Amino acid sequence: MSASEAVTVDDATTGTRPRSAPVSTVTVGVLALQGDVAEHLRAIAATGARPLAVRRPAELAEVDGLIIPGGESTTIWKLLAIFELAGPLRDRIAAGMPVFGSCAGMIMLAERLVDRASDQQTLGAIDMTVRRNAFGRQTDSFEADLRISGAGDEPFRAVFIRAPWVEETGPEVEILATEPRTGKIVAVRQGHLLATAFHPELTQDNRVHTLFVDMVRERS
Ligand code: GLN
Repeated sequence: MSASEAVTVDDATTGTRPRSAPVSTVTVGVLALQGDVAEHLRAIAATGARPLAVRRPAELAEVDGLIIPGGESTTIWKLLAIFELAGPLRDRIAAGMPVFGSCAGMIMLAERLVDRASDQQTLGAIDMTVRRNAFGRQTDSFEADLRISGAGDEPFRAVFIRAPWVEETGPEVEILATEPRTGKIVAVRQGHLLATAFHPELTQDNRVHTLFVDMVRERS
């Protein structure tokens, strides 16, 4: 069967969603507890993948990959616990599900934080130390042109909003981009995990989402 032919999976026998989409179509979720969810859903759709807002464990079970959006990492953590998603999400990450975290999502993926709120926890998935609100008051929000490894040669216009940066990375972590003014690390990949300090969903340039959807396709 060619990749463009549809397959149907019986919902009752497999417990998975019925599928009438082409086999090459992957479902990419956006954690929809808080933050800029709609913009990521739009960007996923633009890559040709199927977007799905994820608020419940049953929805998490449906996705082939997940985006954790920007927002407020302390709030996202509390809501993850309330919605009983923290455990299932850790399990899926451990099982190899690709996850992309932008801004607050990058913070959520970090193993170590500087400027952590007192009761703040993370998913502890990427071997890196992330400093919250790192770029300081005067540059609470700014834009910069970045070179992102794996996202083509053209500069990427990156939007930073009270953004973190990565202070230190472990040996498994690939540095994909640095911010030109400070030289700080602002995009990384560790195997099936991707994180950016900026918000690629806020521009019409979908190259970072395409990179992530390709990671999801490779795993599926
Ligand atoms: N400073 C925020 C935090 O600590 C992140 C900001 C953002 O996601 N735009 O969660």
